[in-house]
Amino acid sequence: MPGPAIDHVDVLIVGAGLSGIGAACHLQDECPGKTFAIVEARGRSGGTWDLFRYPGVRSDSDMYTLAYGFRPWTGTRAIADGPSILGYIRETARQRGIEPKIRHHSRVVNAVWSSSEARWTVGIERTDTGETQQMTCTFLFANTGYYRYDAGYTPPFEGRARFVGRIVHPQDWPEDLDCTGQRVVVIGSGATAVTLVPALARQARHVTMLQRSPSYIASVPDRDPLDDLVRRVLPPEAAGRLLRWKYMVLAWLLFQLSRHAPERMSGWLRGGVARQLPEGYDVGTHFTPAYQPWDQRLCFAPDGDLFRAITDGSVSVVTDRITSFTETGLLLESGQVLEADLVVTATGITMLMLGGMTISVDGRGVDLSEAVTYKSLMISGVPNLAFTFGYTNSSWTLKSDLAARYLCRLLHHMDEHGFSVCTPASPDPSMPTAPYLDLSSGYIRRSPDEFPKQGTASPWRVRHNYPLDLVAFRYGRVDDGVRLR
Ligand SMILES: Cc1cc2nc3c(=O)[nH]c(=O)nc-3n(C[C@H](O)[C@H](O)[C@H](O)COP(=O)(O)OP(=O)(O)OC[C@H]3O[C@@H](n4cnc5c(N)ncnc54)[C@H](O)[C@@H]3O)c2cc1C
Repeated sequence: MPGPAIDHVDVLIVGAGLSGIGAACHLQDECPGKTFAIVEARGRSGGTWDLFRYPGVRSDSDMYTLAYGFRPWTGTRAIADGPSILGYIRETARQRGIEPKIRHHSRVVNAVWSSSEARWTVGIERTDTGETQQMTCTFLFANTGYYRYDAGYTPPFEGRARFVGRIVHPQDWPEDLDCTGQRVVVIGSGATAVTLVPALARQARHVTMLQRSPSYIASVPDRDPLDDLVRRVLPPEAAGRLLRWKYMVLAWLLFQLSRHAPERMSGWLRGGVARQLPEGYDVGTHFTPAYQPWDQRLCFAPDGDLFRAITDGSVSVVTDRITSFTETGLLLESGQVLEADLVVTATGITMLMLGGMTISVDGRGVDLSEAVTYKSLMISGVPNLAFTFGYTNSSWTLKSDLAARYLCRLLHHMDEHGFSVCTPASPDPSMPTAPYLDLSSGYIRRSPDEFPKQGTASPWRVRHNYPLDLVAFRYGRVDDGVRLR
């Protein structure tokens, strides 16, 4: 007796976050003949912007470039709060008719490629009922983000169990948490800590940002008068498009300057911090990183909110290492004790590639750490599979838009030439390889084997350079001699 019919789509998008919903919009507009569905592990869409709910959660990038190219940001503030970003993503899905395409509570656990059938069979676990299902697709497009959703990263802390206060990770922020009048210690110095600390300081008795080592933090205007002028003279969509270019170019210049004149950039960033803090503040200890700008992500403080909180005394920064938790706080290596009612471990995320799904091609498991990424979009030796990984030096969406549009070009190319399969052949083994991401941030160093490698030459190199990628993805030849039928 034949088994139950398995659902088949031309393109299966995994993940209904910012990228997956954007990919669906591109596919619908640019490949109207293709059938597609989105499978999403969670009961809600929005990914990162639904998961993270800590006080003050906001973008670090400007919204003009974090918004989709096809739906410019028309808000008045360049830095938006998390709920506004979530609203924007969901409104896009609603307006474009994408919502009915999303199958919630459906986690992809494995994907099995068969060359004889030229299709993927995808194993799906229902996160609400525990049932398992299968779907098939011709092309698999992973928009699964880059980190684990089930738990953030917390290093083991000596004596943690003896602490009588509360310990919270920003990825798992309790709805009922009220820190009014409390002494709060936030462990960390990355973007999350820089966002959380001034937000918590509005309620708490005092907030201490406890960092092992400092990060570069640039103060950015929450609202730029030049943007207001552009919005006054142009219709909202045209203004959004123009400002997208403005912010893209600014981010690109900032990065290029950091790469080509790191000492000058470092001095400029430290000078900017010093000007916003009281005279005599120890910028050398607390705001002078041991690395060069953009060796790790740059953090941003809208209107210098963190520095204002330090100046008014509601926040202090301590640069030290933790020896252990005590019953009432933290003992540091210097001997200092920080008393706390609440400790927030803003210690990061755990990287995860392809949403943790296992992949096999014709019965052979794919070890991602052995593979090389092609155009930072596909994986050597893996047919009909693409993934989205946004820029780390500018907005994620600049890259996810390019990736989705390139995939549409690729699908057209395959149809025009009658190809049903496309596989990036493995590169010449003599080509040197490097880790997929070239940042030195802790969350990247902790997961060296999670990602495929990158090569040193195009198209195997991961370029964090929007202008170059724009030309290559939009206008470069699809058939560049690397792919096999
Ligand atoms: C706190 C925080 C702040 C950030 N701020 C910025 C910023 O200012 N600017 C910027 O450019 N980037 C920022 N980022 C990066 C951010 O993740 C991207 O901006 C963007 O949200 C990524 O979108 P995505 O859809 O690719 O991934 P995600 O938002 O992570 O969404 C992935 C989706 O895929 C689903 N999924 C994962 N695995 C599976 C599976 N196996 N099966 C089914 N579904 C699955 C998840 O449930 C989720 O819904 C930030 C990240 C964090 C954590």
